[in-house]
Amino acid sequence: MKNSDVKDYMHNEETEIINLACKLIHQKTENPPGDEILAVRVVEDFFQSLCIPYTIFEKIKGRANIVGYIGRKEVGVPTLLVACHLDVVPAGNGWAGNPYDAWIENGRIYGRGASDNKGQMAAMMAVARFLKENESRLKGQFLLAGVADEERGSALGLEYLLNECGVSTDLAIIPDIAHNMQMIDVTEKGTLFLEITSHGRQAHGSTPEMGINAIWNMMIFLERIQQLRFRQTSHPLHTPPTINLGSVHGGTAPNIVPALCKAQLDIRYLPGDSSDAIVGDIKGILKEIESQYPARFDVKIISDQSPTAVPSDTPLVELISKHAQSVLGIRPEPKGLSGATVTKQLIQKGITAVGFGPGDETDAHAANESISIRELIDFAEIMTLVSLDILAE
Ligand SMILES: [Zn+2]
Repeated sequence: MKNSDVKDYMHNEETEIINLACKLIHQKTENPPGDEILAVRVVEDFFQSLCIPYTIFEKIKGRANIVGYIGRKEVGVPTLLVACHLDVVPAGNGWAGNPYDAWIENGRIYGRGASDNKGQMAAMMAVARFLKENESRLKGQFLLAGVADEERGSALGLEYLLNECGVSTDLAIIPDIAHNMQMIDVTEKGTLFLEITSHGRQAHGSTPEMGINAIWNMMIFLERIQQLRFRQTSHPLHTPPTINLGSVHGGTAPNIVPALCKAQLDIRYLPGDSSDAIVGDIKGILKEIESQYPARFDVKIISDQSPTAVPSDTPLVELISKHAQSVLGIRPEPKGLSGATVTKQLIQKGITAVGFGPGDETDAHAANESISIRELIDFAEIMTLVSLDILAE
């Protein structure tokens, strides 16, 4: 089989990819509440029509995941998983049409989920059809998963599949990073969300010296945290580490000395640094302030996800680069992501997982979300070639 056969095949799939994307968008799977089962039924019909064996995994009723299997597991041949999420964020306002009707304009599909992540799922269903038709040539196994709950932490989605359902793979590609197939996500920053509480003592506003002002003390901390020194300040594939002050709450009225103030921080740190060390440094700053002022603080970790990385020259990255170059004429760059995707969960399980896919960064979660049909077809072509290189003899 020649690469041009795959190109012809995917160009003939255009109408089918559009239809599948629209059908998926029609299913309102806003998370919360989720209802991914609606989109899972679309994928299930598709798998059934092609005799692709599949399993539906549902941790909570209605929050369904589906995994289809093509080829068979064989010793010495890797397994490749591609997972797209079937939940979407709420539509919000500002749409030119009904976000769940899906419409086509200027070569693009519009609707909630078009680029995050249902368009990609439709393209991958075309890849699955091709691989099923060529199953006799596959030595390894290809898994296509439609997963739940990605927009709110994946506890009912990929995490559940990996930890409780026995879904396993050697390699994985997650088409959920946009960047128009111009980058391959090989490393992600660590994400540490903290809540700092400043405890004071309430008093009358006319006699502030009788109280301890929790907000003034918090302001001293917020000034000093900006000078926090990270152990890793640079990385060849990442932008520098960051601290975002996301919220500050405290006080009740002008004539009361506030006894409580809370601040929430979002800290994105580089591979090589650790959340333990960062929290230790922050506690050090707080101790120092407590020794200088009548102040008392505590720190709560809201969530903590370690940085992850796969080598930029791992064969999976090379394969994606090679086929993207041949289809698009541009070689995508291995890069680091400041956001977090489910590749984190996969890498922590020892799976070589990278992010790669179509779509504009500005489209996800926005009104009038859309995706280029041309990009979906190119993506399907690249993913077919990559799958064949990994799985076919
Ligand atoms: Zn997404």
